[in-house]
Amino acid sequence: MSQLAQYELVIGLEVHVQLATRTKIFCSCPVETGNAPNTNVCPVCLGFPGALPVLSRHAVELAIRGGLALNCEVQPESIFSRKNYFYPDLPKGYQISQFDKPVALRGWLDIQLESGVKRINITRIHMEDDAGKSQHDGFKDSERYTYVDLNRSGTPLIEIVSEPDMRSSEEAFLYLTEVKQALQFAGVSTCDMEKGHLRCDANVSVRLRGAEKLGTRAEIKNVNSFRFLRQAIDFEFERQVGIVESGGRIIQETRLYNADSGETVSMRSKEEAHDYRYFPEPDLVPLRIGAEWLARVVSEMPELPQAKRARFLTEYGLRPYDADVLTFTRENAEYYEQAAAASKDPKAVANWVMGDLAAMLKSTGKEIADSPIPPRHIAELVDLIGTGELSGKLAKEIFPKMFETGDAPKAIMEREGLKQISDTGALEKIIDDVIANNPKQVEQYKGGKTTVIGFLVGAVMKASRGQANPAAVNQLMAEKLK
Ligand code: ADP
Ligand code: MG
Ligand code: ZN
Repeated sequence: MSQLAQYELVIGLEVHVQLATRTKIFCSCPVETGNAPNTNVCPVCLGFPGALPVLSRHAVELAIRGGLALNCEVQPESIFSRKNYFYPDLPKGYQISQFDKPVALRGWLDIQLESGVKRINITRIHMEDDAGKSQHDGFKDSERYTYVDLNRSGTPLIEIVSEPDMRSSEEAFLYLTEVKQALQFAGVSTCDMEKGHLRCDANVSVRLRGAEKLGTRAEIKNVNSFRFLRQAIDFEFERQVGIVESGGRIIQETRLYNADSGETVSMRSKEEAHDYRYFPEPDLVPLRIGAEWLARVVSEMPELPQAKRARFLTEYGLRPYDADVLTFTRENAEYYEQAAAASKDPKAVANWVMGDLAAMLKSTGKEIADSPIPPRHIAELVDLIGTGELSGKLAKEIFPKMFETGDAPKAIMEREGLKQISDTGALEKIIDDVIANNPKQVEQYKGGKTTVIGFLVGAVMKASRGQANPAAVNQLMAEKLK
């Protein structure tokens, strides 16, 4: 057994998600990017003494949705606290965050492994405000100065803390994917990692297989893509095993992932860690979420990815893989359902959406929400094939035209005279011509070389410019040659 194989990797994730509100959590400044620095600010988010925070109802509503989407118990009462630390982009001198009484507790999400379903438990979800942004470069005097932009200060966040339930970078990746999908479907956040709307810290430790006690963990900050999450965890696994194997001891510390080198580097050890001196925020009353409010949010929850996947399997008879692909985003799922609902063959619809449509969207850089082909046109196309009015081959020809023009397949067929010929009279005429023009092949067929029928059918298809119904041609041809 290799050294690594003797060890078990243990991972817990802390995921920060920006709530999709238009305004900040404790003031009415807009949550927007792209504005001139320090323009979306007011005395509250600038941390002026005496300015009083007022909690955003919409932010709470989205936090409740987040709790429900992650199967948590939403708490009837939660408390905001001050988490005190000094940093130039934190003008108040403290972050307002929930501490010992967070808004939601005890949730879970299931991930799908090759060996089956695994449940990852969620410890808690708490609400907090974001800090501003320090800008260390990009200015002509950046060598000497750091600039601070407080537009982001006061942006509403939730932090989702998992139990240390993951055992590989793959499991961490799958869990984060599920978190992202659930929160997107529930409308809690865009979860756009590139824009920093979803940020993740990975807590990683190792222990000998079979050991019960958890090892000492390192917390890796600044993991800002799914790929980096895997890489950072895999690097950390080898680093920690290396230390233990050479007789060393892991120290509890915060590390940063450097995407350029693919390594994690120490940022600060626990000894240097802050004592945040949490205490209840005196300017905010406890957050009370009554049964009525909760019930209303529950009633407004959209269908979540896992439920949707399960329903796609039973309602449309899809394969698990197809159901996964089609529910990858809410937009994808909605598009598919509209098309499937309008068609007699939801499986064929799935193939067109995942195949030709996905390819055309990709090559033109479009999102499915902006697809030039509306869902009902996919349904129409599939049903034209189903009734035999259109051959699969013709459908493939028409599809790019549907994409370019946005026209319905029927309209394109009529305009271009592309109709499948199944009518026996019309086909017989073409078949008779082909038989008359290919006496050699007809003789070979009659002499027992029946495979030449393929050649003759091909000639008919060609003569009809692909419009003849191949099944009908085959049958008629065989009869004629008897
Ligand atoms: P802190 O606030 O100091 O980061 P928490 O108790 O909130 O500490 O834990 C943070 C995360 O660390 C959680 O996701 C938890 O599952 C994870 N975690 C705790 N102990 C370990 C460990 N030994 N190995 C891996 N992850 C751990
Ligand atoms: Mg932490
Ligand atoms: Zn403000």
